[in-house]
Amino acid sequence: MNVAERYTIAYKGLKNGLHEFDFEVGAALFEAYESTEIKGGACEVHVSLNRAERMLELHTTIDGAVTVSCDRCMEDCDVPVHFAGDLTVKFSDETDEYDGEVMWISPSAGELDLTQYIYESIVLSLPYQRVHPEGGCDPEMLARFHIVSGAEFAAIEARADGNPAGRSVPESEWGKLEALREQLTREVGEAVRTDGSNHDGRK
Ligand SMILES: [Zn+2]
Repeated sequence: MNVAERYTIAYKGLKNGLHEFDFEVGAALFEAYESTEIKGGACEVHVSLNRAERMLELHTTIDGAVTVSCDRCMEDCDVPVHFAGDLTVKFSDETDEYDGEVMWISPSAGELDLTQYIYESIVLSLPYQRVHPEGGCDPEMLARFHIVSGAEFAAIEARADGNPAGRSVPESEWGKLEALREQLTREVGEAVRTDGSNHDGRK
């Protein structure tokens, strides 16, 4: 059974009135659309379909979760999916369109393929910011992507201040800074020793 068959409603045999349908969405749907942002997931789709003489009216709800990359640590992160929407399906042999609210299909089709509608509804319902709950990020990945300590941050800022137009500091400059820092540490150490020796009356 391919993905499209799984999300198809054969409305031709339905009497006028309300009909209920349930579908399950798994990784196969996102693979079928070669989604780069959604890596997997599990959602329940419920469709209430009202069959009228000249149209179908659908109310669809989708609930579950999908796996995406966390914006903060880049590791897999499950975000909830909650969607509710209405779709009207009209019949025409001349148009074969779909604008998100109205879908036109041929009256001879006999069945309604909701694959794209379900996929798009899930994508559109994703939150703008996709991150783990506070404290749920991978600490190793965070350390790799973020500034590790205040000292490092200060060093980066100093580097940026001394270099307009964002030029990077050549490796040799860092070497000089490091040498200067060592020299200062040594001098301070000597000053302390000298200070202590003064009590002995030695010069
Ligand atoms: Zn994270």
